[in-house]
Amino acid sequence: MKDRIGIVGGGQLGRMLGIAAKQLGFRVTIIDPTPHSPAGQVVDEQIIADFTDEVAIRALAARIDFLTFEVELANSLVLEEVAKKGTIVHPFASTLGLIKDKYMQKKFLEECRIPTAKSLSVVSYEDIKTAAKKFGYPLLLKARRDAYDGRGNALIKNPKGIKKAMEKLSGRALYIEQFVPFVKELAIMVVRSSTGEIRTYPVVETIHKNNICHTVIAPAQIDSSILKKAELLARKVMKELKGAGVFGIEMFLTSKDKILINEIAPRVHNSGHYTIEACMTSQFEQHIRAITGLPLGSTQMKVPTAVMVNILGDRIAPVELQGFSQALSIPNVTVHIYGKQDTKPERKMGHITVVDSNWKKAYKKAKQARRLLSI
Ligand code: AMP
Repeated sequence: MKDRIGIVGGGQLGRMLGIAAKQLGFRVTIIDPTPHSPAGQVVDEQIIADFTDEVAIRALAARIDFLTFEVELANSLVLEEVAKKGTIVHPFASTLGLIKDKYMQKKFLEECRIPTAKSLSVVSYEDIKTAAKKFGYPLLLKARRDAYDGRGNALIKNPKGIKKAMEKLSGRALYIEQFVPFVKELAIMVVRSSTGEIRTYPVVETIHKNNICHTVIAPAQIDSSILKKAELLARKVMKELKGAGVFGIEMFLTSKDKILINEIAPRVHNSGHYTIEACMTSQFEQHIRAITGLPLGSTQMKVPTAVMVNILGDRIAPVELQGFSQALSIPNVTVHIYGKQDTKPERKMGHITVVDSNWKKAYKKAKQARRLLSI
């Protein structure tokens, strides 16, 4: 029986994928540079190496049946090479190669006639001035690669802000994105099986602060016609991408009920963590099913609403969790701690999910639990 899975990346996404895979009886090996990584603590074996390490990825491919990734930093060229030699890689390495460059992703969406913010590749100060003439202020200067949790974005409010934004992202390949004055941010997890079947999870609302996702409300509290529109758009995006697995699709909703695609993640995603407690099949189990050729599970919610809040680090220090008992004493609160050794502000250390009959109640409890916790 083919039962060996390899995952490039061993952060919290790898940890939750690993737990789901172990529950299904798979043997799991991951690659991550941090010894005793969040995923390394729960899987069978960790190869300590960088996500881009060619030798390590080839060694991993040689000892597993199915290969996947939980970070866009994974080396798509080597994944493509091992796939050609016969390793089953999902989603396809070409999909990762396309998506990991955010500017290429934007141009690809434009080519597919999928609505997205306008963008322009830039190198110099003058290029940014030209982009500003075209799009107007404010603008977003973004790093094309290795940009996650807002670490590759800089907002430019006026001409005086250009230099500062360039300094923040110096040394990186950049592009400019038109600012979208959205009224809400939405996200949807979508899965494709190895036989091509596509299923969507409910559309959720995401609330970001400082470019980092803080809260997810499931399902999004918006008109059903908008939910339908978001779902159809997500299916259209999926038709353009190749390979099995779960994808996270982030969107902006404008005041005129227009939906633009913000970003695609070719992997499980923070906006789908709520599915562990709230859906018939979690995004993590679903991904494992999809990449190993198993039938997909139901994406339906099994509770009326769920709210997820991220637990971001409170200080710079070795981890010391406080207030755990108090937070867990609130009914319907589930706490996930990722097992990271050190904490720092803006670092994702865990998350809280609350299921309830009403989203406002769930939201209140989630915030209360977060206030009680300190990490
Ligand atoms: P990103 O990592 O590029 O998805 O950006 C993180 C967050 O920054 C998004 O979830 C939005 O809150 C904000 N953001 C990114 N791009 C734009 C944009 N073009 N217009 C307005 N806000 C944006």
